[in-house]
Amino acid sequence: MHKLDDPIISLNGLGPKAQEKLNAIGIYNLEHLLFHLPNRYQNKTHFTTLDQAQVGNEIVVELTIDRIEEVSTKQRQLLCYLSDDNNRTLILRFFHFNQYQKQQLTRGELIQCFGELKIGRDGLEIHHPEYRLVSKGQPTLIEKTLSPIYPLTAGIHQPQMKKWVNFALETLDKSTVFDNFENLAKNSMPTLKQALNTLHHPQIDDNTDQIANFRHISQQRLIIEELCAQKLSLLKLKNERKSKNSNVFKISEIFSSQLLKNLGFELTNAQQRSIDDINTDLSLNHPMLRLLQGDVGSGKTIVAVFACLQAVENGFQSAIMAPTEILANQHFYGFSDYLKPLGIQIAFLTGSQTTAERNQQLALIGSGEAQVVIGTHALFQEAVTFKKLGFIVIDEQHKFGVHQRLSLTQKAKNTPHQLVMTATPIPRSLTMSAYADLDCSIIDELPPGRSPIQTVALASSKKEKVLDKIKQVCEQNNQVYWVCTLIEESEVLRAQSAIDTHLYLKENLTDLTIVLIHGRMNKQEKNSIMARFSRGDIDVLVATTVIEVGVNVPNASLMVIENSERLGLAQLHQLRGRVGRGSDASICILMYQPPLSGNAIERLDILRQTNDGFKIANKDLELRGPGEILGTQQTGIANMKIANIVRDSYLLKQVGYYAAEFMQFDEDKQQALITRWITDDKTQYANT
Ligand code: ADP
Ligand code: MG
Repeated sequence: MHKLDDPIISLNGLGPKAQEKLNAIGIYNLEHLLFHLPNRYQNKTHFTTLDQAQVGNEIVVELTIDRIEEVSTKQRQLLCYLSDDNNRTLILRFFHFNQYQKQQLTRGELIQCFGELKIGRDGLEIHHPEYRLVSKGQPTLIEKTLSPIYPLTAGIHQPQMKKWVNFALETLDKSTVFDNFENLAKNSMPTLKQALNTLHHPQIDDNTDQIANFRHISQQRLIIEELCAQKLSLLKLKNERKSKNSNVFKISEIFSSQLLKNLGFELTNAQQRSIDDINTDLSLNHPMLRLLQGDVGSGKTIVAVFACLQAVENGFQSAIMAPTEILANQHFYGFSDYLKPLGIQIAFLTGSQTTAERNQQLALIGSGEAQVVIGTHALFQEAVTFKKLGFIVIDEQHKFGVHQRLSLTQKAKNTPHQLVMTATPIPRSLTMSAYADLDCSIIDELPPGRSPIQTVALASSKKEKVLDKIKQVCEQNNQVYWVCTLIEESEVLRAQSAIDTHLYLKENLTDLTIVLIHGRMNKQEKNSIMARFSRGDIDVLVATTVIEVGVNVPNASLMVIENSERLGLAQLHQLRGRVGRGSDASICILMYQPPLSGNAIERLDILRQTNDGFKIANKDLELRGPGEILGTQQTGIANMKIANIVRDSYLLKQVGYYAAEFMQFDEDKQQALITRWITDDKTQYANT
């Protein structure tokens, strides 16, 4: 007898080729076939008479063959004329047929056909029906339940898929499976067997509209179970982390209160709350892994600075890692401003340093003299040895792969505490599903005194209007970013467009200092330009998207984005966040090349309507889906079998409830739930 975890190759009539094809769509064993659900159904539960039949519907009819005829127009065709007792007629039309088929269809035979009813010149027709010759003893077409139509992959045919899935369903029927939901209190969900049977073979009175919209209780049950499995696997990761040892920091106020005095502003409540969250984590014996979310400009950096102070006071080094050289530079200056007055030593490490500079910094890091180390991914390199690394900050997380996150943690004896700061707010549904292994603090308010950014969309033909605006802004001693984004993939062409724009602006704005920065410049050059812009020595900075993340120049109050229709929502929001950092009213002009696609109109509209990063993130998730947002590395949630985080986010509350229940299960039952839904080690099936 078969078991559900038998590999599919054990099925009759399923050879190595089909196995390979099914493996490619994630089907390795019989259980996987059970979760390969139909994408629609056919209704073959009753006959339709020709007087009731409606053109366009799929119907089953039972009629008598009157005659057949082979016509040789341009394409050979076989026509089979049928009629009922009242002389109503129907023609079956075959464009592909063989002689055997032709011989079988003989006058006087009773035939059952299924297909879409069409209307032709000579009346009702069905093309290439599925048919049975009942008077020749073939089994009836009529089925008790609706018939599934499965999503296929090239080289696998519908009848094969049906046969294999049915076999899996029969095996399910004879097996005892652990149901997960069965013994839960307050559970009104169908059993796993019921749910799967319903979805593969719904009864006539099952609500197929609900199924089509993924709102049927049987689907909800599976969706909730799948989301629970995801969540559980992340919570287990979290528990694993919490079972590891880290360094206990004794929380001290000495440096913090000094820094507070020097700041020149008060922390927002949200910043204070985040600092408290972090301090609580740091004082525990387990490694912190906390996600700090906050909209652009909400002031995440200072929160990280306060955390570094705790590390310093406890005699540990901190590493701050930024995704770009520009940002690393900026953090170096920013952190130095805060930390130097407290007498804290800072090292700086990037890929563009000379060997001498680099060795000097490496020595500072290795001896422990540098208490805080700031850099790019150069911090990961093997040559970098910390004396006593205790705390890691990763800024603008979406630029980093998860594996990089880990390799830095290996640079310490005890797992260091880790703070991850994201540039883009993450929709709640994603945080709950994809980041459930992280603890999370949210900065949900901006520092006071910011005036909201006004956002306008403008066709690129109206460039002169923008020139006037630039003059006006610069007359008030404010500064301007002009961002060039080009259709072309190549950095050469992108740079060229920025060069052209730079020339255009210089010709038309002769009184202003206009400087170009793009990705093909060397790092020193870029850094020195950014420093001049920071000091206010440049009026208009013409840039490619190199300025995307984190750059902080509060005096900049106008941002112009060319070809804004080409950029994603999150990226536009990030770019726009470079202005509105000071107290001056700021404007963001989204220039576009008409005509706009529907999707582009939606994107520009939402940006005009709101500055709220969380709202924008939700819209982005809706427009692009989780796969695009998380990237391919973060597989799990982007490859779910049934659930879809956007469509099903209304179920998340229930997921929370059930996941908590499942956490009470025995270890092996939890593992069974996870492996039912998350098949990461598929190789075990591949060679059996
Ligand atoms: P982001 O969250 O985008 O990384 P930053 O940390 O760069 O934001 O902060 C943006 C700006 O806001 C900086 O100039 C910073 O000094 C300032 N800032 C941060 N917190 C406050 C506050 N509580 N009050 C006033 N200004 C603040
Ligand atoms: Mg930042």
